[in-house]
Parts: sequence; C-alpha cells; structure tokens
Amino acid sequence: MTTQEKGKISVETENIFPIIKKWLYSEKDIFIRELVSNACDAVSKLKKVSLSEEFEGGTDYRIDLSFDKDKRILVFEDNGIGMTSEEVKKYINQIAFSGATDFAKHYQNNENKAEIIGHFGLGFYSCFMVSQRVTIETKSYKKGEKAVLWESESGTDFSISSIEKDTRGTKISLYLDSESGEYLDKWKLKDLIKKYCDFLPVPIFVDTEKANREKPLWSEEPSKIKPEEYKDFYSYLFPFSGESLFHIHLNVDFPFRLQGILYFPKLTHELEASKNGIKLFCNHVFVSDNANELIPQFLTILKGTIDIPDLPLNVSRSYLQNDPLVKKISGHIIKKVGDRLIEDFKKNREEFQKNWSDISIFVKYGMLTDEKFFDAVKDALIFKNSEAGFYTLNEYVEKNKEKNNSKVYYANETEMSSVYMNLLKSQGLEAILVDSKIDSHLIQHLEMKNPDLKFQRVDAELADQIVDKEASPGVVDANNQTETDRLLAFFKTTVHREGIEIKAEALKSPDVPAVILMPEFMRRMSEMNSMMNKDDSMNLLKNHTLLINSNSQLVKSALREFEGVNSEKGKKLAQLIYDLALIQAKAMNEHDIAEYTKRTTSFLEEILSKN
Ligand code: ADP
Ligand code: MG
Repeated sequence: MTTQEKGKISVETENIFPIIKKWLYSEKDIFIRELVSNACDAVSKLKKVSLSEEFEGGTDYRIDLSFDKDKRILVFEDNGIGMTSEEVKKYINQIAFSGATDFAKHYQNNENKAEIIGHFGLGFYSCFMVSQRVTIETKSYKKGEKAVLWESESGTDFSISSIEKDTRGTKISLYLDSESGEYLDKWKLKDLIKKYCDFLPVPIFVDTEKANREKPLWSEEPSKIKPEEYKDFYSYLFPFSGESLFHIHLNVDFPFRLQGILYFPKLTHELEASKNGIKLFCNHVFVSDNANELIPQFLTILKGTIDIPDLPLNVSRSYLQNDPLVKKISGHIIKKVGDRLIEDFKKNREEFQKNWSDISIFVKYGMLTDEKFFDAVKDALIFKNSEAGFYTLNEYVEKNKEKNNSKVYYANETEMSSVYMNLLKSQGLEAILVDSKIDSHLIQHLEMKNPDLKFQRVDAELADQIVDKEASPGVVDANNQTETDRLLAFFKTTVHREGIEIKAEALKSPDVPAVILMPEFMRRMSEMNSMMNKDDSMNLLKNHTLLINSNSQLVKSALREFEGVNSEKGKKLAQLIYDLALIQAKAMNEHDIAEYTKRTTSFLEEILSKN
C-alpha cells in the first residue's frame, strides 16, 4: 500500500522560481554542479557512517548520470546515504527550500550580477531552472526504512509517497523543459563534469563512461604525497606550463579551513602574472579560476588550487575585499609562501641560489608591494656578488665592514669589468650586482627600511679607499700651486662642457687617467627613466664629475707637455682623456660618438703627419 502526502511549501515565496530562472539564465549549467555535489556529499556521509555502522549494499560508491533523449529525462543517481521520508521533508522541503529562497532574495537585490563570484547556496532547487518536473526516489542506508518518492512540478507543490526501490541511495530525475534539451548530450555533460566536478572524490559516470579524475591531491596528507605526484598534478592542471620550480602545500584547520597546493611556475617573462593560474574550489567543487579577490596581486604569479569550504562565495567583490576571513586567508598564504622561501634558503642554499634568477623578480616585487611579505622574506633576499657568488645584505655588510662603513656598492651586471669595478676590486672591496629593472625601486625601499644602509652605485663617487690619501699633492710651484691644482687648471681650460664639474685626485690605480662620477641621485633617476624607456643620456651628461687621476702617467705627461701652451694638440689630448672616461661610463650618446670619432681621427692624422 502506498500512501500519498501532498503539500505546499510556502505561498508567499511561490514566485522564487521565475526569479531564479531569470537571474541564473546564463549560469544554467550550475544545476549539474549542485546535484552532483549533493550526491557526493551523500557518499561522503555514508563513508563516515561506515566507520562505525554496518549497512547493506556494499561500498562501491559511485555517481551516475544518464538520460533518455526521447522522454527528455536527465537522471542523477548515487549510492550514498539516502533519505528517509522524514529526512526528505526536512532537508528538501524545509532546509533546501529556504536556502533557495534566501538565494533568490540575494540575487534580486543585487544590482550587478557580474560582481558575484561563485553561486553557492542555491543547491538542490537549481534543478528547477531546467525542469518542468522533478522526482526524487531515495532509500536510506538505515535498515527497515521504506524508499520514498518525492515529486514536484512547480518546486512549491510537492507530493511524497512510499515506493519500492531495491538499492540504497538517491535517484533524481529531471524532466527537462523545452528550453533545456542541450543537457541530453553526453559530451555536454562530460564537459560540465570535467569543469566542475573533476576532483570530487567519488567516481562519476556519464552514460557509463567515467567522467572525473577524483584525487584532489590538496586534500591528502602532505607527508604521504610523493614528489612525482605533485609534478603530475601540476602538469594535469596546467598541461602547457612546463615544470614548476617548487610547490607549497597549504593545510589549515584554524581559524578557517583551507587546503591547497600552490606551485611556483618557471617564468618566461619578467613579472608575467599567470592568467587564471589559481583555481578556487569549495569542497572539491570548482568555483572559479579567478582568485584575485583572495590573494594579493603579486601572488597571482603562482599556480595551483585553493579549496575553502567555508568561504561565503555568493557575495560581491567589494564585500570580499573587506571580509576579515578573506584578509586572514590572504595573510596566511603570504606567510606560508614567505616561510617556504626562508626554509629553502636555510636548508638548501645552493639550490635556492640556482633558482634565484627564476624567483627573484617575484620575491622583489612582493617585497615592494606587501609589507608582510617584505618582513617574511627579507632574510632570504640575496644579490649576486662580483665574485660569481651570492650575498645577503647582512653578509655583504659583514664582509666589507672594515673598509666600507655601511655603504653597499652596487653595479649592473654589464659593468662587471668596468673601470669602476676594477678600481673597487683592486682595493679588496666588492659590489653587489643588480640585474633587473625592479632593483632600483627595491634599493630605495631597502634604504627606507634600513636607515643605516646606504646604497651607492660604483660610479657615483669613489670609495674613500680608492683615493690615495697618502699621495703627495705634488711640489708647490712659484705661484703656490700644487701639481693637483695645476692639473685641475689645465683640464678646466681644455675641456669645455656646460654643467660638468672637474676634480683631480690621486687614485691608487695609476693606469686609469680619468673617471666619470655621477651623482647617486641622478643614477637612480636614470635607471628609473630607462625602465620607462626614456632616453636620458643627455640628462646624465649634464650633471657629472670628471675626476682626473693625478697618479696617471698619461695625465702627468700631458701636463708636462702642454701646460700653459694653449695648443690645439693639448686640447685634443685632454678632450680624449675625457672621452675615454665617458666611454667607460657608457655616457656617450650618438652625437658624442660622432664627435669623438672626428676628434680621434684628426688626432691620429696629426700624429702620423709628424712622422
Ligand atoms: P546543501 O547541499 O547546501 O545542504 P542543497 O539544497 O543542495 O543544500 O541540499 C539540501 C539537502 O538535501 C542536503 O543537505 C541533503 O541533506 C539533502 N540531499 C540533497 N541531495 C541529496 C542526495 N543525493 N542524497 C542525500 N541527501 C541529499
Ligand atoms: Mg548542495
């Protein structure tokens, strides 16, 4: 005997279905995700029960999607926990329905639908977006419980009766409406399962074909996962991304639940943020591949998965950005990434240094944009040194302490063998090498954070140690002038260029006739301008110092030959000495090079004509 019970859920909310249909039209697909995740929940619940109770029907858990094209029926079947008739009344008629009502209200009040990420909360009733009639046949795992049939055509009027059903679990049949025939298609269904349910931990079949990968690696115990499994997972998620450098397994229980695996990809361009690199999940169900609201921008370089079961995903962006949970999540991820870098740095510095060229841009960019990250990783910040090794700033300062009084000399990689580096090295000093455009910003930032440190380009002014303080300023002549004074006077009368300053000093290296010094400030401006592709060689030239080395034999001879003579040859020679310094400083523009070539040619001709 089957008895039938009829009912109506709530009169005032009768019109929620037209609203749901209207608002969600473009997101119709999500009913698949909702019904399959319910089936998966039902299996998970039974798995839990199986730890303490026995039941019939085996533990060969599965979810099946099938369809009948002629009758236009789409069926979802699971062998999970099932429902008793009391449970159907409670979970479907009350809880699920009130969830749907809340959801509809939320959508109704939300002006900007595009602002909404994820669409959780609608649940079971989303199937009425595509159905004119829905039936649930379900049998609880509990012994002696009768199977139940629930059916409804409107979503608000329902009837419940007991039926015969042999197997444990729930079978939901959707009688699709005239606009939803597209779901009677195996490829369409398989596609949607792949998109939303690929990592649900229960096998899902579409028309008897297995449709999901299962194995949400991020939910497994990190200590039990082999390195290859992490690699495989990465190439499964991002088939064309090559290898990753390393990964971070996130596993948090408190104060929020979060699991995930973030990979550091091999970057091919500076600061290339991976588009949609982080896939967001809620209980293994795919939600979105835009995690930008959850993590700071510099971390969007990372790729991988984040699963947050409790995140209120059906809320707007502006809300998310101010949500304390979201802030905590972001803070946690930043800290984990920082910890991981520090750990690698400490445990395996060699490996860390090997990877540095791949990760440094990311680390530096993060340090510049995020205070927390700066603090978390500052001890792992390293710079190449001029000896092909690496320094942290502390190591550099420690090593050069005695000679350096907390100055940090730095140079471009291309300046490795410049006259400046050689001068520095000849005095046993070292420089760190800056190699990316972001470094000029980072240096400013580091100075701000460490008021004791002073960064100085190797060509900004000469290290005190390079200048030979003991050198005698030369014999004082009849006019009370030292050799240095006379040198200065000679070059001032022979080299004419507006705005430059000329100095003479005895350098410890006699083979360098002259060097150009640029104010540190100008150098930094110029670096930043070059980042913006502005040509400022003219600017650089306007403000620099020509330092004449009074220890240089060439300079001494020039003075001896041409002092007070006012000859063309003397002028040309002085100018050439200046030119050589400009070349060393890479401070010639095209016009200068042309002029230089002319001068040199005529100078050489002059020399040859004498023979
Ligand atoms: P939620 O999944 O967020 O709880 P839903 O509207 O999706 O909300 O589902 C409401 C409830 O209906 C579920 O919590 C569950 O108790 C019950 N339910 C839905 N589908 C199934 C199923 N396939 N097997 C067992 N119970 C189900
Ligand atoms: Mg659900």
